Amino acid sequence: MPNPTQANSIAQRVIPREQHTISRKDISANALRVLYRLREGGFDAYLVGGAVRDLLTGGHPKDFDVATSATPEEVKHLFRNCRLIGRRFRLAHVVFGREIIEVATFRANSDDGSGDRQVHDDGRLLRDNVYGSIEDDAVRRDFTANALYYTVEDFSVRDYVGGFEDVNNRVLKLIGDPETRYREDPVRMLRAIRFAAKLGFSIDPATAEPIPRLAPLLREAAPARLFEDCLKLFLYGHAEASFEGLERYGLLPALFPDTAAALAANRSGALRRMVIAGLRSTDARVRADEPVSPAFLFAVLLWPAYCRALMTLQSQGVHLTEAQRRAADRVTVHQLDSIALPRRFSLPMQEIWLMQARLMQARSGQRQRKRVMRTLAHPRFRAAFDFLVLRQAASDGHAEDVAFWRDAQQDPDNAIALHPVEDAAETEEEGAEGAASGPRKRRRRRRKPAAAHSAAE
Ligand code: ATP
Ligand code: MG
Repeated sequence: MPNPTQANSIAQRVIPREQHTISRKDISANALRVLYRLREGGFDAYLVGGAVRDLLTGGHPKDFDVATSATPEEVKHLFRNCRLIGRRFRLAHVVFGREIIEVATFRANSDDGSGDRQVHDDGRLLRDNVYGSIEDDAVRRDFTANALYYTVEDFSVRDYVGGFEDVNNRVLKLIGDPETRYREDPVRMLRAIRFAAKLGFSIDPATAEPIPRLAPLLREAAPARLFEDCLKLFLYGHAEASFEGLERYGLLPALFPDTAAALAANRSGALRRMVIAGLRSTDARVRADEPVSPAFLFAVLLWPAYCRALMTLQSQGVHLTEAQRRAADRVTVHQLDSIALPRRFSLPMQEIWLMQARLMQARSGQRQRKRVMRTLAHPRFRAAFDFLVLRQAASDGHAEDVAFWRDAQQDPDNAIALHPVEDAAETEEEGAEGAASGPRKRRRRRRKPAAAHSAAE
C-alpha cells in the first residue's frame, strides 16, 4: 500500500513562542514534568495531539499526550510511576494520582514489512508498532490539526503537515489521501464529524467527499470502539452538532440503522425533534456541569427505533405491555450489532422507555395513590420523568402529565387532588411518537383506528 505522504520529503515549520498562544501555565504540571524528565534523559519529547490543538483554539484539553523518541521500555526506566499498556499501540502510562500522562514513542506508517505491522486485506490497520522519526509520527496521525508538536526546549510548535495554518483557518483536513486513510481506519470518519462539531471547524472538501461513499465501512469497526466513540460524540457538550454532522454525511445508518430508518419514515419530523431536544438538553447539562448518563443518551438516540418497533408490533395485534417489552428488546439486540452498549446502560435505557407508559397513566383513570407512590419510588423515575419532559418540549403534548408528576414529586396527595383525571387527550400528538404513550393511545386507536400509523408511513 503506498504511503500517502512521503515522510522524508517533509519540511518542518517552527512556530516560535511569540507567534502562538500556548503558555506553560495552561499545561498540566505533570505533563511538563514528563517532558522535562524525558529531555534530561537525552530523549526528544513533545506535547502532541488534542492538547496542542485545544490549547491553540483556546480550549481546555481533557488530557495531555506526549510523543517521544524514547521506547516504552526506556520511558519505564525513567519513571517509577509508569506502566506499559496496549498491543496494537504499545504505550507508556505515567501515573500521577488520578492523572495519567500517555507517552507514545514516535511511530512510523512504514509499509516495508520490516516492523511489527499488520494490514488487513481491505486496507485496515491491525497492529502498528513500527517506531520512527517525528516526521513519520506526524504523517501517520489523522488530521493536520492533531499533528502539532509543542516542545519545552524553546517553547515552539513544530509543524510537519500544515496543521498550524489549518487550525488558524479552522479547517479539518486529513493528512494524506483521504480515501486511503478512511479505509485504513473507518472510525476516522466519525472523528472528522466529532472534531468539526467540537471545534466548530469546517471539514475540508477533499476530506469530506469520501465520507458518504465510505460510510458503510463503519459497520466493520469494532462495536466496543464505536461505543467509546459515541460517548465522545455525544457526552462532551457538542451532541447536537455531532448528530447533525452524522446526518449530513450519511453516517447515521451505519451507526444507528433502526433509528435512521425510523427517522426516514417519520414524515412529520416529530421523532427527530425529540432526538434533537434530547441532545440539546444533554449539551446544556454538560455546560452546567451536571451529570449525563449513557443510558439516558441512548434512550434518546434509539427512541425513534423503539417507537417504530412498538408501532409495528401493535399493528400486528400484540398487546401493549408485551409489545413494549418486545420492542425494547428487539431494538437493543439489533443495536448491539454496531455498538456494544453494555448491559449496565441498556437495562436502564429500556426502563426509561417502559416507564413512559406508566407516566402517561396519569391521564388514563389509573392514577391511584398506590400506583403513584410506586412510580415515584422507582429507581428510574427521575430519568423517565426527564425523558417525558423532553417529549413534551419536542411535541407540545404531555403537558398535563408533566405537570402532574412535577407536583407529585413535591406532594403526591396534593397532586392527585390538583390534577383531575382527564378522559381524552387535550393535544393531538402525532403517530409514531405517540405510540409509546400507553393506554391513552389504545383508547384513541379504538376511536380512530388509522391514527396510530399516520406518522410512520
Ligand atoms: P480528544 O480531545 O478527543 O482526546 P485527541 O485528538 O486527543 O482528542 P485521541 O483519540 O486522544 O484524540 O488521540 C490522540 C492523538 O492520536 C490524536 O490527536 C491523533 O494525532 C492521534 N490519533 C488518534 N486516533 C487516530 C487514528 N484513528 N488515526 C490516526 N491518528 C490518530
Ligand atoms: Mg486525547
